Amino acid sequence: MIRVALAKGRLFDPAVACFGRAGIVIDPDPGRRLLIPSNDPGLEFLVVKPADVAVYVESGAADLGVTGTDVLRESEADVLEPLELGFGACRLVVASPASAPWPDLPGGKTARVATKYPRLAWRHFGEAGRPVEIIAVNGSVEVAPLLGLAHWIVDLVDTGNTLKANGLVERETILQVGAVLVANRASQKLKLEAHLALMARLEQTVRG
Ligand code: AMP
Repeated sequence: MIRVALAKGRLFDPAVACFGRAGIVIDPDPGRRLLIPSNDPGLEFLVVKPADVAVYVESGAADLGVTGTDVLRESEADVLEPLELGFGACRLVVASPASAPWPDLPGGKTARVATKYPRLAWRHFGEAGRPVEIIAVNGSVEVAPLLGLAHWIVDLVDTGNTLKANGLVERETILQVGAVLVANRASQKLKLEAHLALMARLEQTVRG
């Protein structure tokens, strides 16, 4: 049996569609069941919060997972990344108010940066030797500069509409983000054939 962890939220529908194109149909109405069967008796699914996919896969509670590279890099989980899945493209950026000076703040102040990605933000500014103060938040990041919580934000951007609506401008790109298949290291060794067979089916949907 291969267990696959899927992320709730934006990546869920495209992930289900991707498996569907590979001929794997996930029960569309799982009710309250947390383990969801599919039309393949050797494959079951688990739906968890995006940040938890890598936790389940790293620990071996799930053999495989579908997650975005944003939460994956933030987690620093030790998992294999055998396949880019070709959906969920967006980017992690630094943004600041259109009306504010960039990159230097008046009076040489240290910028406060609000983000759901404190590690990636630290690394980005740290590698460039730019001192900042990171404020970790769990959501509604774009409102932080409007409320004076932070000068800048680090957040995901897709169309750019949310930034624009909040008077923010994209200043720097930190990471190109996309959905990837992740695999537990031990599982891929122990169940190599099943992993390879599933990856081949998924890979065809990405190429096709
Ligand atoms: P947009 O207005 O299209 O640029 O979308 C930006 C908003 O959607 C921000 O609140 C992001 O945090 C969120 N967002 C964009 N892309 C993704 C994604 N691939 N996964 C999760 N959230 C996203």
